Amino acid sequence: MTARLLIVGPQGSGKGTQGVLVAEAFGIPVVSTGDIFRANIKQGTELGLKVKAITDAGDLVPDEVTSEIVRDRLSQDDAQGGFLLDGYPRNTTQVGHLDAFLAERGENLDAVILLDVPRDESIARIAKRAEEQGRSDDTEEAIAKRLDIYESETAPIVDVYAERGIVDRIDGVGTLDEITARIFAALEARGLVRVAA
Ligand code: AMP
Repeated sequence: MTARLLIVGPQGSGKGTQGVLVAEAFGIPVVSTGDIFRANIKQGTELGLKVKAITDAGDLVPDEVTSEIVRDRLSQDDAQGGFLLDGYPRNTTQVGHLDAFLAERGENLDAVILLDVPRDESIARIAKRAEEQGRSDDTEEAIAKRLDIYESETAPIVDVYAERGIVDRIDGVGTLDEITARIFAALEARGLVRVAA
């Protein structure tokens, strides 16, 4: 069955990891704007050159640029039967862009998974990731900026989706398996059926 999902949470909430597991279980692709930007930066594409300084500083890439990339990605064949968005939309302007785009296709998001993790815990997890992966935007300054933007711009999108009754707030503290199980249970309660375990 199709599932059109969005996973939201502060940096360090584990949304990237959980997003991959959920997408696998539903047989849908993950569409992560952060991953798309990082791949372009690594390959030195025109887009990569344009966004490197912005992402390194922890700022948001302009909405028009980001929304166009998502629109293109969602137009590909593998996203016709559903998708899991990770990292987009990130503010209410982007919500408007996504709404318009999905409306053209006669589609809606089925569920928004909100991973709830206290700020202290997020910072501790990002610091650990910085050590392990050496991401160029995992500097102390950029991390603080990203968390601030999350609180001021991204958290409000949850209210928009909550009004539509599609938000599942998931306690993001626990083991990886526990959190995955909580997400699966919430989606199942919406009648969203997994294709794999
Ligand atoms: P992420 O991996 O989701 O933390 O994204 C890494 C960086 O990519 C962010 O700090 C932003 O600079 C940029 N980015 C990712 N998604 C978006 C988005 N939806 N809108 C604007 N910038 C984004």
